[in-house]
Amino acid sequence: TSAQIGVTGLAVMGRNLARNFARNGYTVAVHNRTASRTKALVEEFGHEGDFVAAETAEEFVAALERPRRLVIMVKAGQPTDAVIEEFAPLLEPGDMIIDGGNAHFADTRRREKALREQGIHFVGMGVSGGEEGALHGPSIMPGGPKESYDSLGPMLEKISAKAADGAPCVTHVGPDGAGHFVKMVHNGIEYADMQLIGEAYQLLRDVAGYTPAQIADIFRTWNTGRLDSYLIEITAEVLSHVDEATGKPFVDVVVDQAEQKGTGRWTVQIALDLGVPVSGIAEAVFARSLSGHAALREASRGLAGPQASPLGEAEAAAFADRVEQALYASKIVSYTQGFHEIAAGSEEYGWDIDLGAVSAIWRGGCIIRAAFLDRIRAAYDARAGLPSLLSDETFAREIADAQDDWREVLIAATRQGVPTPGFAAALAYYDALRAPRLPAALTQGQRDFFGAHTYRRVDRDGSFHTLWGGDRSEVSA
Ligand code: NDP
Repeated sequence: TSAQIGVTGLAVMGRNLARNFARNGYTVAVHNRTASRTKALVEEFGHEGDFVAAETAEEFVAALERPRRLVIMVKAGQPTDAVIEEFAPLLEPGDMIIDGGNAHFADTRRREKALREQGIHFVGMGVSGGEEGALHGPSIMPGGPKESYDSLGPMLEKISAKAADGAPCVTHVGPDGAGHFVKMVHNGIEYADMQLIGEAYQLLRDVAGYTPAQIADIFRTWNTGRLDSYLIEITAEVLSHVDEATGKPFVDVVVDQAEQKGTGRWTVQIALDLGVPVSGIAEAVFARSLSGHAALREASRGLAGPQASPLGEAEAAAFADRVEQALYASKIVSYTQGFHEIAAGSEEYGWDIDLGAVSAIWRGGCIIRAAFLDRIRAAYDARAGLPSLLSDETFAREIADAQDDWREVLIAATRQGVPTPGFAAALAYYDALRAPRLPAALTQGQRDFFGAHTYRRVDRDGSFHTLWGGDRSEVSA
């Protein structure tokens, strides 16, 4: 039998992706460095479809129909290079290597270029949805040569998640590293979403005085409205969970130090390189790193601050409504920043990414899936070349409606000493964009003063320098 697709790397993600292909009627060759995993997969799930178990790389390649489609699902980084080096010599021009791991897009660009010289199509493919998504339908973000999508696309469309309107959550994102770039920003936005939800929770707890169980109910209510999303849904689940051993809310027995694997950090690093202000995502990454500084936090516990005094019942309910507004407005800002980064990456690398199509494939399967993404797609569909999500009339109006509450929430947070870096960064971004004048003019003056860096004028073209150390007359630079 010849297999239409092969998967090598059979840990949680690879195993479930292979099963997903098999359940959809494809014959799947499976391979893993440690052969026992391959055997275990076929023994446990062989009844789900047609698997061809391969022990060696040669057997694996021989099992695939031509042109071969070989999915790598191993640990990102060096292991991916090792696997490519093992398989590439066994392949022929026209064959396809698909990397479904969380690769850095720069690695994907390098690998695509090297393999292209051998005539091998390399597809860097972002996959989101965790192990459940891999099995039941992930959101898939493939990059690489367009022609590879002609034969691969229909298979991916079959195994992908479907949005509410039935559309498959997969599209050819763009050449070389475009797919992994978009997956990276997806994760950055995910960090921001989680941080904003965390701040909303903390405010409801410390300012409104609600219990975790009550907050779970509030999130459930929010989940029936415009915040309807997977992350809000699971937040309610986590908050209502009670620790069996102690009878305490689960959230109170977990060590409050957040970990990270790196894609959020990459999103910020690349944004810095591209000069894109993703302040909300950056605050989310920093908030996780701050939480992990246990010794620093311990040493700072005695620092002065206001006494938190929870609100009365009626006020608490009104405050919760305000927090919903603040969360929604901040969410619009973080997506604005994330899509700006994708647009900038697309411009820098010549990917020609369709931002509406990206929001459409995030509607199902992935961690940030939400009703909200339909509205982002509508915004991009309504106006091609939309400069920013905030330029969309609907989003602009919603933020305008939310802004009084958003500001009130930040005032309360500041007064009571509850840290809200995500909400605050989002509001600062919004206010900076709308400001008629920014203190950047003063910055330019300072730079010209100490470093003769020159400045432009509002009333004339050209670059100028003031002779600060002399008679302070202005010269053309
Ligand atoms: P891991 O990232 O834990 O990787 C384990 C797999 O990599 C095993 O099959 C292992 O083989 C193989 N491997 C490691 N080093 C090598 C090597 N040098 N040569 C050959 N094979 C090697 O597995 P996951 O399933 O969690 O993730 C797979 C990929 O998918 C990763 O890139 C991950 O970032 C990405 N991803 C993960 C998600 C998740 O929710 N977990 C979500 C989306 C993407 P062996 O059994 O022999 O050790």
